[in-house]
Amino acid sequence: MKPIMTFLTGLTLLGAPGCIAAQTAAPAQTATAAIPRSEQPAACPATGAALQVLGSGGPIAEWAGEQGRAGTSYLLWIDGTPRLLIDAGAGSYLRFAEAGGRLADLDAILLTHLHADHAGDLAGVLNSGGFETRTAPLPIIGPDGAERFPGTSEFLARLLGKEAGAFAYNGGFIDGSENKFRLEPRDITTGAGRAAPAGLDVSNDYSVFAYPVHHGPAPALGYVIEWQGKAVVITGDQSAQSERFAVELAGSKPVILFAHHVINGAEGQPRGLHRTPAQIGELAGALAPQRLVLTHNMQRSLAPIALSLAAIGEGYAGAVTVAADLDCYAF
Ligand SMILES: [Zn+2]
Ligand SMILES: [Zn+2]
Repeated sequence: MKPIMTFLTGLTLLGAPGCIAAQTAAPAQTATAAIPRSEQPAACPATGAALQVLGSGGPIAEWAGEQGRAGTSYLLWIDGTPRLLIDAGAGSYLRFAEAGGRLADLDAILLTHLHADHAGDLAGVLNSGGFETRTAPLPIIGPDGAERFPGTSEFLARLLGKEAGAFAYNGGFIDGSENKFRLEPRDITTGAGRAAPAGLDVSNDYSVFAYPVHHGPAPALGYVIEWQGKAVVITGDQSAQSERFAVELAGSKPVILFAHHVINGAEGQPRGLHRTPAQIGELAGALAPQRLVLTHNMQRSLAPIALSLAAIGEGYAGAVTVAADLDCYAF
């Protein structure tokens, strides 16, 4: 882990990170006043690096009065080109199109884990990509398997395999036949969140590292993306048993920590699946990001947002805002 820590602790935070620095977490003026929105542009800049939140929601399909939230998905932009799709949760298929995503441009698809709110639209996104011009193989990188969760390569085989796949008619994605581009799956060893981080060799323009995390029985990963000495961290869904994640990234001072926010610990959150707001605050306190963005939001987690922000504030004194679909965060 030494190389990773070296690069992260050696980060030079250059300030003025585009649209992030330009806005502040001003209180909203509407009935959603308690939710600390930071108005992000819904289009990413033509230059520099940006992470766009395609889906800011969780596993519950719901309409919040102004907009719905797709399941978790992010799109990395470098100089105006979409380079990485991270998760393809239910509903994100449409957001991918709205953002201008194109599979033909991607270096890889990364998956945090194989819950439906993170991978439910993968078949649709790939199917759509089959109508594009891509011919190069496309790496798909995600966790290994355990118990009721197939590993990433097995997941793709069950989804698309020519013999027994659910969408066997799209089996050309498995072997590159039938005018499909071939998928190159890679299973990252997670070890219940205790395995070593892995560098992912997908581009010379930026660096990506997969960090195993603990998410109940589901093998799961968080991701760190580093571009020109600046980093963003995606927690993925993780419980506070993800001790190695916190230790490895302590003091790394990313520009943004995207934390998957679920529910106040007092309100029946299943144990061992997610960090409570207080535990998100502890993690943010350890990593010391310039800002903390809460995503994976649901009405059940936003209703008690004042309590959650107070709990987060016990561990982290920096800015905290709540993401909406298509928000673009330059870094
Ligand atoms: Zn989730
Ligand atoms: Zn999950």
